[in-house]
Amino acid sequence: MPLELVTIPCLTDNYAYLLHDDASGHTTLIDAPEAAPILAALAARGWRLDQILLTHHHSDHIQAVPALLAATSATVLGAQADAHRLPPLTRALAEGDSVAIGPERAHVIDVSGHTVGHIAFHLPQSALAFTADSLMAGGCGRLFEGSPALMWSSLQKLAALPGETLICSGHEYTTSNLAFAASIEPDNPALQARIASVARARAENRPTVPAHLSVELATNPFLRARLPHIKAMIGLDRATDAEAFAEIRARKDKF
Ligand code: ZN
Ligand code: FE
Repeated sequence: MPLELVTIPCLTDNYAYLLHDDASGHTTLIDAPEAAPILAALAARGWRLDQILLTHHHSDHIQAVPALLAATSATVLGAQADAHRLPPLTRALAEGDSVAIGPERAHVIDVSGHTVGHIAFHLPQSALAFTADSLMAGGCGRLFEGSPALMWSSLQKLAALPGETLICSGHEYTTSNLAFAASIEPDNPALQARIASVARARAENRPTVPAHLSVELATNPFLRARLPHIKAMIGLDRATDAEAFAEIRARKDKF
C-alpha cells in the first residue's frame, strides 16, 4: 500500500500535508500553519499524529506546533541550522539525513534561499517532495535570507529529481505565479495549458498543488532560467544561469 497524502488548506493560502501508512497506522504532518484544520483532518480519518516535519522557521509554517503538541504526542523534526528559531526539536536534521515515514524514508535536502536553513523532504518510493517555500507551483519563494545563487543551486537539486515527483509546496500562489510566468514566456504552450487548468481548479476551489516536477520544468520560469531562449527573452544572452535566475526573481518581486 502506498502512503496516503492529504492536502490541508490552512489560513488564507497555506498548505499543510498529512502522510499516512495504513499498515502501521503511522501519520506524519509536514508543516504546521493552523491547528484546527489539521486536527479536523486527523479526526475525520481516525488518525493519530506521530510526527511533525518542519520545512523552515516562518510562523505560517510552525505556529500551530504548540497547539498540536497539546492535542497529540507527536515528535517534532526540523533543520539543525534553524534549531534556534524553531519550536523545540525532538530531532535536528541536515542534508543527507533521512526520516522514517511508515515503511518509507524521507530524505532531507537543503533548499536554502527563501530562508537559510530551509529544508525539503523527498520520498523516492512515493515520488513526493515537500518543498514549502523553495520550489512552488509555477514559482519559487521570495529571497528573504539567501542570495539568488544560493536559491538557484537549491532549485537545481529539486530539478534533478525524477519528473514524476509530485511537488507539494506551501502556498496557493499558483494563479499569480503563472501570470508572471506568462510575462516572461508568453508563447509557451505548456504554460498556457497550465494557466487554463489552474483557472478551472481555482473556479472550483480546488488546490493547484501538488504538481508534477515535469510540469514545473515545462512551465516554471525559475527552473527555466538556464534555457538560452529564456535568457534571450530577458536580454541576458551571455548571463550565467544564476544571473538569469536573479533577473527573473527581481522582476517577479516588482510584478
Ligand atoms: Zn516562508
Ligand atoms: Fe510561507
